[in-house]
Amino acid sequence: MKSEYICTVCPNGCELSVEYEGETMISCTGNLCRRGFEYAKSMITDPMRSVTSSVLVEGGVMPLVSVRTSAPVSKKRMFDVVDVVKSMKVKAPVAMGQVLCENVLGLGADIIATRTVEAAEK
Ligand code: SF4
Repeated sequence: MKSEYICTVCPNGCELSVEYEGETMISCTGNLCRRGFEYAKSMITDPMRSVTSSVLVEGGVMPLVSVRTSAPVSKKRMFDVVDVVKSMKVKAPVAMGQVLCENVLGLGADIIATRTVEAAEK
């Protein structure tokens, strides 16, 4: 099998061409450094993805606030993270960039708000 990836480890964004069989990497080209090679290997054995979703807001001008993980998490744990997000409820106001859950499930990523939700006037 062959896949193309953009290495996200540093701003160079090298375009990686990876050949693999199952979870075994056969070759990797396009990487300018060893970290790109390791990144390609992790994409084959344990791909990572960012999670985006929304969280319930109490007392806000909107009932939901959009959120994302501050870093990609293992694809194998994405639905566990979504379950956590769906069980969360926060009080308004919520600021864009606010950490709503630190180190979700010990995966090394926070759940952060991607927009502001002001408190509703009473
Ligand atoms: S391969 Fe190395 S230089 Fe290229 S984007 Fe990845 S970390 Fe940066």
